[in-house]
Amino acid sequence: MSARVLVVDDTPANVKLLEARLSAEYFDVMTASNGTQALEICARAECDIILLDVMMPDMDGFEVCRRLKSNPATHFIPVVMVTALDSPADRVRGLEAGADDFLTKPVSDVVLIARVRSLTRLKMMTDELRMRALTSFEIGVQAPERSAIADTGKNGRILLVDDRPSSYERLAPVLGTEHAVDVEPDPTQALFHAAEGNYDLIIVSLGLENFDGLRLCSQARSLERTRQVPLLAIADPEDNTRLLRGLEIGVNDYLLRPVDKNELLARARTLIRRRRYTEHLRDNVQNSIEAAITDALTGLHNRRYMESHLSTLAEQNAMRGKPLSVMMLDIDFFKAINDSYGHDAGDDVLREFAVRIRKSIRGIDLACRYGGEEFVIVMPETDLHVAGKVAERVRRGIASEPFMIEKGARRIDVTISIGIATLEKKGEPVADVLKRADVALYRAKHDGRNRVVAAAA
Ligand code: GH3
Ligand code: MG
Ligand code: MG
Repeated sequence: MSARVLVVDDTPANVKLLEARLSAEYFDVMTASNGTQALEICARAECDIILLDVMMPDMDGFEVCRRLKSNPATHFIPVVMVTALDSPADRVRGLEAGADDFLTKPVSDVVLIARVRSLTRLKMMTDELRMRALTSFEIGVQAPERSAIADTGKNGRILLVDDRPSSYERLAPVLGTEHAVDVEPDPTQALFHAAEGNYDLIIVSLGLENFDGLRLCSQARSLERTRQVPLLAIADPEDNTRLLRGLEIGVNDYLLRPVDKNELLARARTLIRRRRYTEHLRDNVQNSIEAAITDALTGLHNRRYMESHLSTLAEQNAMRGKPLSVMMLDIDFFKAINDSYGHDAGDDVLREFAVRIRKSIRGIDLACRYGGEEFVIVMPETDLHVAGKVAERVRRGIASEPFMIEKGARRIDVTISIGIATLEKKGEPVADVLKRADVALYRAKHDGRNRVVAAAA
């Protein structure tokens, strides 16, 4: 899908110019001639990036940007200020309004396309994360846009890779006023340092002696531990072509020497804020995935996860010609525990039960809470004979040691009954194996409980 770019400018000729260049690169272009129109289009979520003129009658670009960035519904749309004003002070003003980047009029074609590409890539990635995180907002987790808007972007952890003392001795103290800064003067060590340090931002000087700063940036992009950390390049003005290469390989932003202190601080804050926002989204996605497959009380997998994963495991084992066994466990007279000591005591038993199960099985075994006080353990590469031994070990692990309830004030005996079954024929439906384990479990109950029964083949 091609990205949708909104061009906002009160001068029709400027709009036409940008529109033509962007369309030539297959972007979808929309236009607006004033701030109010622009805000309306953004509120309808119709664009992926905005190129925003600064000087416009009525509402200027700074104000439009501020409004977009302080609204949770439009906060994540990247804003590029297009401006004839090009002093560091103007840029700082834009960054403080929340701008993601600047283009100076007259806009160079290559720079325009490079910037739009890199920011829309970022936007698409955040869109994807936001979509996946949506379920966790629905269950009441605070939307990350709110905290992103409140985030000052300060107190980050920054790694500065620069081998010129005259340069880092000037930059590090500036950054140090708002962040924790580590300086790495040895570019060959920088990647290790970056991977170890859990940084919010890596700043790389492109003017390193005997070392290509861009190589470092590209390595940081391919390394799992640093892939998501924003990169800010510092370059000499004559390094323009390399900077464009840098943007292509994933450098997020750059500054030209001589570095303006306030601009450095403003850019660092913007990148760090954006980093925290995407991390927050990523965490939400992770949490909602975990919540969807985990049983909240015991921390074991839930039934839904087990059932969807069991068929995969069964196929894998069948392909390798290995047996797979399942164990179905049910706590004996659990209702009586609830009735005598209360529901909380019952919950304590379930939690402790899960802990003991985990201790008795291997890492590749899959333990899940199947329902109330019923559990299932799936054991790949395990035949019925071995499954019987494991089940016996689990049974003993429960019966041999009383369970603590009422915060340790009381100890009660708990036993379980277990049915085991093995996947016999290639292609046998996994539901059938579970069924046979269940029948075996029923026999174990019937025969007196606190025992293991193997299903007939
Ligand atoms: P049996 O030996 O035949 O399995 O008897 P039982 O009492 O264990 O079996 P039954 O199925 O009659 O009772 C299960 C009880 O488990 C009933 C239900 O209230 C209780 N239970 C189910 N889920 C939970 C839970 O999350 N917490 C607590 N405390 N109790 C639960
Ligand atoms: Mg029971
Ligand atoms: Mg039961």
